[in-house]
Amino acid sequence: MSLIGIYNHPKAAKMAYFGLYAQQHRGQQSAGIVSRRPPKREGEVLQICEHLGLGLVPDVFPEEILNRLRGSRAIGHVLYSRSGSPSLRDAEPFRIQHRGIDLSVAHNGALLNAKSLRLRMEKLGAIFHTATDSELFAHLIIDAMEKGDKLPEAVAAACKEVRGAFSLLVLGNDQMIAVRDPLGIKPLSIARVEKTDTWVLASETCAFDLLEAQKVRSVRPGEMVVIEADGALASPTLTSIQWADSPGCKHCVFELVYFARPDSVVFGEEVYSCRKRMGIQAAREAPCEADCVMPLPDSGVYFALGYAQGAGLPYEHAMIRNHYVGRTFIQPTQEMRSFDVRIKLNPVSGFIRGRRVVIADDSIVRGTTVRGRTSHLREAGAREVHFRVSSPPVKFPCLYGVDFPSREELIAVHKTNEEIREYIGLDSLHHLTLEGLKAILEKPEDFCYACFDGNYPVPPNDEEEAAAARGLRIEQPED
Ligand code: 5GP
Ligand code: MG
Repeated sequence: MSLIGIYNHPKAAKMAYFGLYAQQHRGQQSAGIVSRRPPKREGEVLQICEHLGLGLVPDVFPEEILNRLRGSRAIGHVLYSRSGSPSLRDAEPFRIQHRGIDLSVAHNGALLNAKSLRLRMEKLGAIFHTATDSELFAHLIIDAMEKGDKLPEAVAAACKEVRGAFSLLVLGNDQMIAVRDPLGIKPLSIARVEKTDTWVLASETCAFDLLEAQKVRSVRPGEMVVIEADGALASPTLTSIQWADSPGCKHCVFELVYFARPDSVVFGEEVYSCRKRMGIQAAREAPCEADCVMPLPDSGVYFALGYAQGAGLPYEHAMIRNHYVGRTFIQPTQEMRSFDVRIKLNPVSGFIRGRRVVIADDSIVRGTTVRGRTSHLREAGAREVHFRVSSPPVKFPCLYGVDFPSREELIAVHKTNEEIREYIGLDSLHHLTLEGLKAILEKPEDFCYACFDGNYPVPPNDEEEAAAARGLRIEQPED
């Protein structure tokens, strides 16, 4: 999931659109933008526009729709596919109107105690329309405002109720608010468009590059940044409120392994060089007698580059990607074996025949991707196929928003390294060790490794919380 916020730009929605476009890799299920124009004169009605849709950013926002999203303030969101079928209802930002307040919320992360909080709000009369955590935040915020809080205090009150991972953008009548959870699990940074009073908030810095904005800093763990302007023409001010003490950072290490774009800087790490260092480290841990190294594109590319440099092997690209593979294509006939795998990636048989190749990728989850690739390489005549992975075995589901399946489906839960090697059909297999992964990070103690070691920095109270955090559907309460 990714967030974008634009404050004080004449074409805020267009800026948000490009910011989401740059972050499309963080979610392809749905996209949404809410924009608004503050009243220029007293008594003038606020103008608020929103548009949400299923699919990719450019498909959801054709130009004529984008032109209708007026205003100088906007927030946007792309949703990452989670368990269950896509639903337009769950697209974000979530917008709610309540007694003169118009509130939009976009969330990146996952909450552990969403179900019990929802039930509590429902008993107070709240009616929920979606299954999103954003809507829960909106209800908690409205509830606090009803008790007399101003928007920033109400957002802080809501944040104090929830447990889990959250980077949050809130657009109120006048303010835009950015929040991070006390451990800073998900990224969120602030930038400013050079020589202007336009502020940009984004999950990843690659969005700033496209918008020609300079990063100022990250929103700190447990911090809330309130951006506001006194009327449409005034310069915005930024106020920092530490709404919770941070016991220390627990950034998601999978952002560096897989999620983030390599041209981003995430948690103070340059993702590109970080992935190359993982490759160099893997070459130290598990060198290989082979003719070349090849990535599984795109996720394995920079890791493979580092491995090739570290191992002193030629770097090759003899698996060719079709860049036009859409989300839906006409289903092949029964006879077209492994169509799904080949349509995306096809090996260059002439090069591969007779060679000993090392393939490299970021992770093994179920093992399906690499199993398919390995058999294609064998069919193409590879003499040996070795595999290097830039992360330790994934043994625990993520409770903070990465869509790993249940423990039953994680191959490393049931099989040893040797059994996985055999199942995939490899000559050798090596996962970067957890120690090796930590060794290449500037501040290894600042990261969450729960998917590898099961040490959840925000532990679930029970199975139900763990299931809810993984996006499994919330059933209706019985009473
Ligand atoms: P497997 O095929 O083993 O189940 O999954 C591993 C593949 O999924 C790797 O190629 C990796 O790049 C990709 N992958 C890892 N994490 C994620 C994720 O969170 N979402 C998606 N869509 N793919 C992922
Ligand atoms: Mg991949």
